[in-house]
Amino acid sequence: MTTPYRHEPFTDFSLKENQEAFKKALKTVNKEWLGKEYPLIINGERITTDAKIVSYNPAKKDEVIGSVSKATKELAEKAIEAAATAFETWRYTKAEERANILFRAAASIRRKKHEFSALLVKEAGKPWKEADADTAEAIDFLEYYARQMIELANGKPINSREGEYNQYIYTPTGVTVSIPPWNFLFAIMAGITVAPLVSGNTVVLKPASATPIIAALFVDVLEEAGVPKGVINFVPGSGSEVGDTLVDHPKTSIITFTGSREVGTRIFERAAVVQPGQQHLKQVIAEMGGKDTIIVDKDGDVELAAQSIFTSAFGFAGQKCSAGSRAVVHADVYDAVVERVVEITEEQITGNPESHSTYMGPVIDAASYEKIMGYIEIGKEEGRLVSGGTGDDSKGFFIQPTIFADVDAEAKIMQEEIFGPVLAFSKVASFDEALQVANNTEYGLTGAVITNNRAHIERAKQEFHVGNLYFNRNCTGAIVGYHPFGGFKMSGTDSKAGGPDYLTLHMNAKTVSETY
Ligand code: NAP
Ligand code: MG
Repeated sequence: MTTPYRHEPFTDFSLKENQEAFKKALKTVNKEWLGKEYPLIINGERITTDAKIVSYNPAKKDEVIGSVSKATKELAEKAIEAAATAFETWRYTKAEERANILFRAAASIRRKKHEFSALLVKEAGKPWKEADADTAEAIDFLEYYARQMIELANGKPINSREGEYNQYIYTPTGVTVSIPPWNFLFAIMAGITVAPLVSGNTVVLKPASATPIIAALFVDVLEEAGVPKGVINFVPGSGSEVGDTLVDHPKTSIITFTGSREVGTRIFERAAVVQPGQQHLKQVIAEMGGKDTIIVDKDGDVELAAQSIFTSAFGFAGQKCSAGSRAVVHADVYDAVVERVVEITEEQITGNPESHSTYMGPVIDAASYEKIMGYIEIGKEEGRLVSGGTGDDSKGFFIQPTIFADVDAEAKIMQEEIFGPVLAFSKVASFDEALQVANNTEYGLTGAVITNNRAHIERAKQEFHVGNLYFNRNCTGAIVGYHPFGGFKMSGTDSKAGGPDYLTLHMNAKTVSETY
């Protein structure tokens, strides 16, 4: 019997003992985990290549976290072939057996939980709290999907007539290519790897090039927990070099991708083309970008609004698909909310996330830094700069949390995903206008409404078109099993990761009818 699902608790870092434990983990990681080399893994075989992808610490740009061997097109093809062969046995393993591997993997991560989180601090520049939440979510995905699979093992009930016995069961699909982003380097990478695995598919994992080390360590955890050779294959490589090869391969059945709109739509298009020798249509799960809005109604609580806007905009330096980068505020409370958000923001420390007092760390790399600083320049033309606006990339890629007020709803910084610590405020005269502005982007991922008006809550439930809508809180921080996650419109295929329908996207439903 498995215990009921309960999400992994977050660490309370206000407690001295937890602070000490985390500092110790950081020390261990700094001394013992950094600078190692990791091979590719194809059919259980370790392959070392001359070409490497080196992972650096975004807070200290010259510090090497580790390096991984880099796949060529030939190696990527070899990995798909290995996964296709392994599928012929893995598909027939019992669901409980597959689920148990996930439970064992979760237990093993829990034993080194702070060390894993400390690695996320180093590899992605996550402050403690954000790193801790990322690791907790990875554990959640393992625990939740394992339980889901056990529940789905015998399919779902359908009707039978006299003299006839009918079943509705789920069967695995085939080779899955998993392509995660760098921002939830542990949670999303783990989630989009283990969901297909536990559903009976074999996986080729191509990690994000900015954060391959956590992925290499996770694959080790899976192997130790009992994933057989060929069932998980690890092929780091540049997306632009091996991405098409993995997506186009005729033996690829599922592509599960989380990342930008640009790459996601490319994958969606390419996967639609039936290649010579291909005997199935490919399934694409693509979760993409966001431009997420917090609406503050005229009777909304100003302090709650300010705290929610601040957390949503600047948690992990705004590098979340769910980041609330646009605040749409009723004129009656507009000045008070802007003023309070600026105040809260200016009390916070931006710096090296290894220090407990840091609220916001760096952005991920030089390219991101340049892109975000470019948007800040655009913002200076489009709005009134009320906080931040500067960056410093001499040691790491640090950008001050930046706030623009009085921005037009159609402005670039109100429309395009910046993926950095930049917040834009727009003033509206009514709740109707607020909803209209909230819906005026091509994205539809998350949103929040701060209001005490029951009628407006009901209207927003119908008319605010996002996959994850929250009331009187921030628009980030979805929890597995509690807030299934995925977006509308150009935010993706709305797969709802961490939700009850997710695993079925990785399986083919089969109707079996026996006549007596
Ligand atoms: P990205 O640039 O699209 O990269 C995502 C992954 O795609 C990486 O592993 C990347 O590999 C790979 N890739 C690049 N080009 C490819 C190609 N031609 N074919 C196949 N794969 C390719 O996104 P990112 O910068 O890592 O992540 C940020 C984006 O993710 C934001 O837009 C954010 O909103 C979105 N996101 C969405 C969700 C959600 O649930 N909706 C969650 C998190 C993040 P390389 O690293 O080697 O380039
Ligand atoms: Mg790195």
